[in-house]
Amino acid sequence: VVVDQAFLRETNLSALLHTLCNNTPLSRAQLANLIGLNKSTVSSLVEELLARGLIHAIGLNPGSAGRPGILLEINPQAGAVIGVELGVDFISVVVTDFLGQIIWRRFKRVDPMGATESIISQALALSNDACAFCHEKEMRLLGLGLSIPGTVDVTQGVLIYAPNLNWRNVPLGEIFSKATGLKVIVENDANAAAIGEHLFGVARQSKDFIFVFAGVGIGGGLFLNDHLYRGKEGQAGEIGHAPIMAEPLQYLCHCGNRGCWETYANQSSLIQRMQMHMDGKKNNLARQLMEEQNAPLSVDLIKQAADLGDKDARESFAGVGEAMGLGIANLVNIFNPDKVILGGPLSIGGKYLLPAINENVAKHSMPGLYPQVQILLSAFCADASVIGASALVIDSLMDKPAQVERW
Ligand SMILES: [Zn+2]
Repeated sequence: VVVDQAFLRETNLSALLHTLCNNTPLSRAQLANLIGLNKSTVSSLVEELLARGLIHAIGLNPGSAGRPGILLEINPQAGAVIGVELGVDFISVVVTDFLGQIIWRRFKRVDPMGATESIISQALALSNDACAFCHEKEMRLLGLGLSIPGTVDVTQGVLIYAPNLNWRNVPLGEIFSKATGLKVIVENDANAAAIGEHLFGVARQSKDFIFVFAGVGIGGGLFLNDHLYRGKEGQAGEIGHAPIMAEPLQYLCHCGNRGCWETYANQSSLIQRMQMHMDGKKNNLARQLMEEQNAPLSVDLIKQAADLGDKDARESFAGVGEAMGLGIANLVNIFNPDKVILGGPLSIGGKYLLPAINENVAKHSMPGLYPQVQILLSAFCADASVIGASALVIDSLMDKPAQVERW
């Protein structure tokens, strides 16, 4: 049997990095036990990862019997990664370290009705600011991840269709790569968030979970059998367009259909619910906040009102949570996940959404399934997708660590 030694070594290097990401810190002996390789192989792998700067030693293991082992962990300073999230109505750009911690960030509201070229050029300008920051700090820049609210051809880096922006066939990978000189990975926003959550967040140990990304729309990242599930053409997970209440008189969705789940559970449905509470009421806390801040009714403002105890704001979140719960009950029935994780712009109201979500998943899922699932907030909430964008690059380098040059 011919074994490709280079391939085998890369697989082992990757296993070591992923193990260290999930259980940190570890000694060489502990790593050997967990991966099931002998100690001399592990020592050689460790030397290579140290030489590439991907891991570092952080001291001795005080608890170990006999000769104390040197403890190793992923080196957060292995390099910097740029994460870019093209939201529907915002652009978020971060620089993270190799453990997904944000060290620089910019955020900009944009008009989703604006020209595609204008939105892209604003995102490129922020990305170049991020590059300049990394160069100034003399950090090794490892790549750029881009998350977008639509379906993606991941191998070509092409946005296929973003219903809430009405964009089709935009070669974003090529555009961002040309402008920054970096290796670029493009991914759907919910998929990116799922990868980030699996690498650094509350889904670290999970093999079957669903990331529900809620904002202007609702996207799903299906992480099944320990892998992101992409479907035939990479377009799986469009859970927001599940026609769960498809009646001709229901709201028209941006995708052109009526009664899509997301039209009942997205941020504009929250704002509509709140508006209905406010109509015909003279004294209302949200209206007062709008006047004080000279700001329109928004998710953020409704959250502020809820935090101040406003009953209408809390009921509006609960109404959205109820609709979310119905859709999530479907997901629980179909996929039997161990976790459903809520993130994205709407998740800032998570504590007001979760009780209604749980109540409705319990009520509407098949008997026996609800007790198996935990419904959790993302570790990164509104930043889930931009940290996920950065995690795309980190995850791909952990899969193929030989791509990172020796120091
Ligand atoms: Zn739709």
